[in-house]
Amino acid sequence: MTTSLVRFAPSPTGYLHIGNARPALFNWLFARRHHGRFLLRYDDTDIARSKPEYAEAIAEDLGWLGIVPDQVIWQSQRLAIYDAVAERLRAAGRLYACYETPDELDRRRKRQLARGLPPIYDRAALKLTAEQKAAFEAEGRKPHWRFLLEAREVAWDDLVRGPSHVDCASLSDPVLVREDGSYLYTLPSVVDDIETGVSHVIRGEDHVTNTAVQAQIFEALGASLPVFGHHNLLTTASGEGLSKRLGHLSLRGLRDSGVEALAVAALAVLVGTSDAVRPVASLDELAGLVDLAHVSRAPAKFDEHELEALSARTLHQMPFAAVADRLAAIGVAGGEPFWLAVRGNLTKFDEAKLWWQVVAGAITPVIADPAFAAKAAELLPPEPFDGTSWKSWTQAVSAATGAKGKGLFMPLRQALTGLDHGPELAALLPLIGREKALKRLAGESA
Ligand code: GLU
Repeated sequence: MTTSLVRFAPSPTGYLHIGNARPALFNWLFARRHHGRFLLRYDDTDIARSKPEYAEAIAEDLGWLGIVPDQVIWQSQRLAIYDAVAERLRAAGRLYACYETPDELDRRRKRQLARGLPPIYDRAALKLTAEQKAAFEAEGRKPHWRFLLEAREVAWDDLVRGPSHVDCASLSDPVLVREDGSYLYTLPSVVDDIETGVSHVIRGEDHVTNTAVQAQIFEALGASLPVFGHHNLLTTASGEGLSKRLGHLSLRGLRDSGVEALAVAALAVLVGTSDAVRPVASLDELAGLVDLAHVSRAPAKFDEHELEALSARTLHQMPFAAVADRLAAIGVAGGEPFWLAVRGNLTKFDEAKLWWQVVAGAITPVIADPAFAAKAAELLPPEPFDGTSWKSWTQAVSAATGAKGKGLFMPLRQALTGLDHGPELAALLPLIGREKALKRLAGESA
């Protein structure tokens, strides 16, 4: 059995945000679902804009989401391979030298538009003679290189969009190599997809046209096509595109704001579906819910409030094993009983610290009726406390004082926690313990 290989291919020119985390997740979840492998490929051929610190941040942010690549490659280390392939394409007549300046191209485009023609590159460079090229070079011009497209329709069966096609006759021959010899993304991507054996290319629908162009490059290189899938793009709630500059929707911005990674992952891929409102317990569970064939083709609208709500619900059902290390890291002990007692009251994970303070630290009790508190202290059962201690204690306090309902529970909550809301006291009381409870009922900070 051949296993599938997918790749996530970010350019390390900025931080990942919720929008570009989606192809990472769609690929990762696809790999989980199909027992495939996941390649992280840094598309860093743009040396001016690519930065190692962004690459590091991308790996870290993916790790936060729970994505750990099986393999990592850097395009900047593979230039000799691309050079050799570009040579093959030149020799085959599919990559041709062009000498137009951006200004010249612009003027030509405007003329075409003025005459009602589509602004497609006119292939004037194909007609240049050796002498004309030599003259340009003598002037100091260096060529950029275009791929000669065949004027035909490219069709594929898209994992998300179903049968798809693009007519390449309506496209300009794409520039693959810049004047300075550096590569645009188009060719290295194909070369690497072939060389690494990528079986499925899953990316945003902004790449649909690239797919048609790249399909022709695959074929020109004698390679068979991978399977393609193009997911919808994320917009803000009001329908605008997300830009890299939206710092607070960067994955690190979301992490710093205390949103759960699992909620980010779930909402990123389920947004717009009925599954988007319920929390998942793991990426594996999420993988079971995401079928590319069912991803909507309409733009996916991202709402931060929805994310916050999902994040809270994710915490409310999170098992202790999933948070044990994180609790230890913020200095919260108390183990599973503490976690189960408080998780339902958290909107952000860090709030566990507050409840740990209530349970194990010192608080200032609120005592409105000292006589009531003294009576309650008298009736507090001996330790050990268990899950029933609260009930038997409050029944005894009710019988002795006549207090009921809120009049019974609120003064006890205020005395024991200093607050008038919080987790179930039946769960908190055994964690607070008898000694602390007696001091607090006596009005002492403890
Ligand atoms: N570097 C490209 C991008 O970030 C990769 C697209 C692709 O997956 O092929 O858009």
